Amino acid sequence: MARRRQLFEGTAKILFEGPEPGTLVQYFKDDAMAFNSRKRGVITGKGVINNRISEYLMTRLGEIGVPTHFMRRLNMREQLVREVEIIPIEVAVRNVVAGSLAARFGIAEGTPLPRSIVEYYFKSEDHEHPLVTEEHITAFGWATPQDLDEILSLSLRINDFLSGLFLGIGIRLVDFRVEFGRLWEEDSVRIVLADEISPDSCRLWDIKTNERLDIDRFRGDLGKIAAGYQEVARRLGILPESDPTDIKGPETVQ
Ligand code: C5P
Repeated sequence: MARRRQLFEGTAKILFEGPEPGTLVQYFKDDAMAFNSRKRGVITGKGVINNRISEYLMTRLGEIGVPTHFMRRLNMREQLVREVEIIPIEVAVRNVVAGSLAARFGIAEGTPLPRSIVEYYFKSEDHEHPLVTEEHITAFGWATPQDLDEILSLSLRINDFLSGLFLGIGIRLVDFRVEFGRLWEEDSVRIVLADEISPDSCRLWDIKTNERLDIDRFRGDLGKIAAGYQEVARRLGILPESDPTDIKGPETVQ
């Protein structure tokens, strides 16, 4: 196979030039990082599972009208995506107090929030991604007020849809981070969901036991890290071992 030009390498993914103009190949690695890159490791098989989970969730979101960069999965570790101009903001949506929110305010992990909280973090060149306000985002020109309106409404729709989807398989969507990009189509531009949605970017807790099924198993040295990711894929009905024609979709928990 011809060598492809690598455009970007992050902790968990590599982006290559795609087969047609305006497309990219997104390759999912097994590498993991936590605490602003102070902790690094490998979760064997994570990339294969995240490729499937992100494919599944982006496809379902596309079906309810959330525009995404996802085009199709190419193989075990790669998917074809549309090339977008990434907006340098990570949007965190939270339903339950955890992680940096718990630390920042000294509120116990697991405290339910009376309403979803949306936060913005600036994707700076180093691994410190500071919490920023809409004022910073618009003043520094990272996004316009109109972009932010669209980003906020898409983020809340994504949260509502994914919360329900995960609840149906006995998982609480505690929080997640997403990224958006600008997709240029002739002379118009729209904001689309980019990057990935997977247990690397979501906190997913078993509804009955509060067992962590996400990257917090790696962050907190909880063991059985890959098993958490596999359990999410199993409940979604998309374990990579199964033949694509065997995919049966999520099994609803009563
Ligand atoms: O650490 P914090 O509580 O701010 O994380 C909020 C959400 O964002 C969690 O689901 C976490 O897994 C995710 N996250 C991420 N990438 C980071 C840091 C956090 O996807 N660099």
